[in-house]
Amino acid sequence: MESFGVHCLRHLKIKLAAALDILHMYRIYGLQLLMEDTWKRIRFPAVLRVFWLTRLTAQAVVLTYVVKMAETNTEEKFYLISWENCWELVCSLIISGCDSTLTVLGMSAVISSIAHYLGLGILAFIGSTDEDDKRLGFVAPVLFFILALQTGLSGLKPEERLVRLSRNMCLLLTAVLHFIHGMTDPVLMSLSASHVSSFRRHFPVLLVSACLFILPVLLSYILWHHYALNTWLFAVTAFCVELCLKVIVSITVYVLFMIDGYYNVLWEKLDDYVYYVRSTGNIIEFIFGVIMFGNGAYTMVFESGSKIRACMMCLHAYFNIYLQAKNGWKTFINRRTAVKKINSLPEVKGSRLHEIDDVCAICYHEFTTSARITPCNHYFHALCLRKWLYIQDTCPMCHQKVYIEEKENANISNNGFVAPNENPIEVAEEAAEAAHEINEDNDSTDSDDDDCVAEHQNETLNVDSDSLGD
Ligand SMILES: [Zn+2]
Ligand SMILES: [Zn+2]
Repeated sequence: MESFGVHCLRHLKIKLAAALDILHMYRIYGLQLLMEDTWKRIRFPAVLRVFWLTRLTAQAVVLTYVVKMAETNTEEKFYLISWENCWELVCSLIISGCDSTLTVLGMSAVISSIAHYLGLGILAFIGSTDEDDKRLGFVAPVLFFILALQTGLSGLKPEERLVRLSRNMCLLLTAVLHFIHGMTDPVLMSLSASHVSSFRRHFPVLLVSACLFILPVLLSYILWHHYALNTWLFAVTAFCVELCLKVIVSITVYVLFMIDGYYNVLWEKLDDYVYYVRSTGNIIEFIFGVIMFGNGAYTMVFESGSKIRACMMCLHAYFNIYLQAKNGWKTFINRRTAVKKINSLPEVKGSRLHEIDDVCAICYHEFTTSARITPCNHYFHALCLRKWLYIQDTCPMCHQKVYIEEKENANISNNGFVAPNENPIEVAEEAAEAAHEINEDNDSTDSDDDDCVAEHQNETLNVDSDSLGD
């Protein structure tokens, strides 16, 4: 009896440890990665995939046999069936491939594999080494499944199901293209900012960017040609236009950086231009978020109002509207504070500049037009110091306060991007470390890269919740 009690206790302990483990993972990596990990551990997708493909093959064999029996006139070509029949066969296979929640899950698993290899292929092609980007194989099937649930795919009549499926696929395609843009954008930025001049490194990324521009244009052109305007077509078109705008923003910033690299002088206004282009892009994205929300609300009220759609609307409102606005506002405030801080410092110009006979400690370039003096008597370019102040409030040379503000806020560091579970002090420390690395690195074009990273982190969420309207 006692041993049974001990056994139970041990069992309970193991269960508790497992639960704590999951809780720990959730705290550190967040919900998305936890789900991803659990998904991988139980090997559910592999089982589903095998199930779905086996079922598909069995049905294909049976259907081919039936069609063959019906086709009695073509005796000589025994192994072939006519084109129309072949097309019908494929259609009916696809229709029966999503006739229940289980088969829809199986289809998602197959889509997961395709998306996974597509993602890997593109990453290899553009030469990205970012480990975070391998999540397309997770995002695409989840999105597909949510769309299927939201539109009640498996419960529809067979002929309606095919139409609905193709519509969902269009939405999925645009979302995947958005995700791919999220993968190419940081590569494009790092290539242009680090002044890599090899054509072979630039070409694949530019090619993918061009495709990301052409594909949505082509898709919307074809769809507008074949369908009348409805909420689904509106959603797809809005996604396509948004993607095109994102690509234009990326390419513009890329061109700005390339021009900067080509002339190889300190371009004081570069930072401003990049900021304007990026914030214009963000504002447009925000407006699109609101429009999509309106479209989703319209669909919910007048077409189909399910609970899943309501949940998705809430997620969309949170990630694509609230967080977007919040981050944008914070970046704006940080920038304004940095500009204010710099402007409050005394400036050295003209003949006095020659007397200094020193280089900027951040970029190691000489002072050509002007320099700013910190209260601790160190000289920097205004531009370099501004980038620095996004990360840290202290002088890069002696770590004294550059500017004493009335209301100090630790959250301002790291571009104002503080993850909800992170301790602000830790973030500040990390930022200090990162800043130190930049200082040692000599090449300090990093402030915009930080923007990219933060944006890139949001990208997945955007794609996740971008599935609202249809
Ligand atoms: Zn400098
Ligand atoms: Zn100093």
